[in-house]
Amino acid sequence: MPRAVPIERLRNIGIVAHIDAGKTTTTERILYYTGKTYKIGEVHEGAATMDWMPQEKERGITITAATTACYWKDHQINIIDTPGHVDFSVEVVRSMKVLDGIIFIFSAVEGVQPQSEANWRWADRFGVPRIAFINKLDRLGADFYRVFNEIEKKLSIKPVAIQIPIGAEDQFKGVVDLMSMKAIIWLEETLGAKYEVVDIPQEYLDKAQEWRAKMVEAIVEKDDDLMMRYLEGEEISAEDLKRVLRKATINRNLVPVLCGSAFKNKGVQPLLDAVIDYLPSPLDVPPAKGINPKTSEEEERKPFDEEPFCAYVFKVMSDPYAGQLTYFRVFSGKVTAGSYVYNATRDKKERIGRLLLMHANSREDVQEASAGEIVAAVGLDAATGDTLSDEKFPILLEKLEFPEPVISMA
Ligand code: GDP
Repeated sequence: MPRAVPIERLRNIGIVAHIDAGKTTTTERILYYTGKTYKIGEVHEGAATMDWMPQEKERGITITAATTACYWKDHQINIIDTPGHVDFSVEVVRSMKVLDGIIFIFSAVEGVQPQSEANWRWADRFGVPRIAFINKLDRLGADFYRVFNEIEKKLSIKPVAIQIPIGAEDQFKGVVDLMSMKAIIWLEETLGAKYEVVDIPQEYLDKAQEWRAKMVEAIVEKDDDLMMRYLEGEEISAEDLKRVLRKATINRNLVPVLCGSAFKNKGVQPLLDAVIDYLPSPLDVPPAKGINPKTSEEEERKPFDEEPFCAYVFKVMSDPYAGQLTYFRVFSGKVTAGSYVYNATRDKKERIGRLLLMHANSREDVQEASAGEIVAAVGLDAATGDTLSDEKFPILLEKLEFPEPVISMA
């Protein structure tokens, strides 16, 4: 059975923020915008039809699953629920192991808060590529540039603004997209907010040119060929800039910075575009490493369907409908519903019952899960942290040490 979405169009991401910066609101909006009637190949605009039930519209959609699959422009985005606002813990370490990229949310009013710094360093430690979203631009005291400078000063990895805001506080209207040098203006503040793409307003032209130049310089610096062409005075295309920015983001040399107001429904669609454009697919990250329990040798598993199956259990939770759900990420090979797998951690064979793909407002039975995918198994007796593998090719994925906190949480 072919995959629903090819692996290069898969994004396994987490959303991380200091308390109150807007993680819940942004997540809800993402689920809302990606929950519209979806057809592969259809170009999404703010105006597309929606298929949410009215009551869901009213109360918003909250994630109750450990991962939620959603779709944006021919891509599948799996949002992995990173634990809320507690200090980073073993739970976070586990989620870090199964996600490939992070949307890091900052408040445009409060800026880089201690918890953001601590969380950022954890992401450093696990080598997770990031994009940043400066939220709450509609609020009194919001200042994109101040927060951008704080990110640059306080955090590792150079930020690069790929948008600047148009207006601020109650006058916040939209953003300049520095790649296309067009303005994106939201026409409404309600759910489903439509936007239009127009020429940059006259009074923002200078600022847009100044920030585009900064963006271009930061990007070309990461690629010798592009740098040469830039120095020779060539106009570098948005396509080339995006390609190199993608590579630099995945290599953790740069962090693209976007902005908006999740609450006022401004900025979420371009944020989803950036997830696709800059965060890695499972093919872009290093292969999973582990120990063969028979030989004690280190082995690798690449994210290909032909490799022996291996998967990591990162969450076990009880579900009112299905009983116990065991969430795992497949790192290599594939697994089918009803088959047996080898739990290398416990040295025993276990049967996979049903396999479920969790969506925001539904769950879908799937027959098979392939490399890169995250699914929940029903009726599997395994614990968080277990490695599932092919009995003939057993592997124990790298044991998770619980690292020391990098900075104090004072
Ligand atoms: P979390 O703690 O990071 O999950 O933050 P929430 O998403 O729960 O947001 C905290 C509060 O800030 C809530 O009252 C939200 O309605 C509000 N909020 C979130 N995003 C924005 C925004 O962009 N603008 C404004 N004005 N309020 C926001």
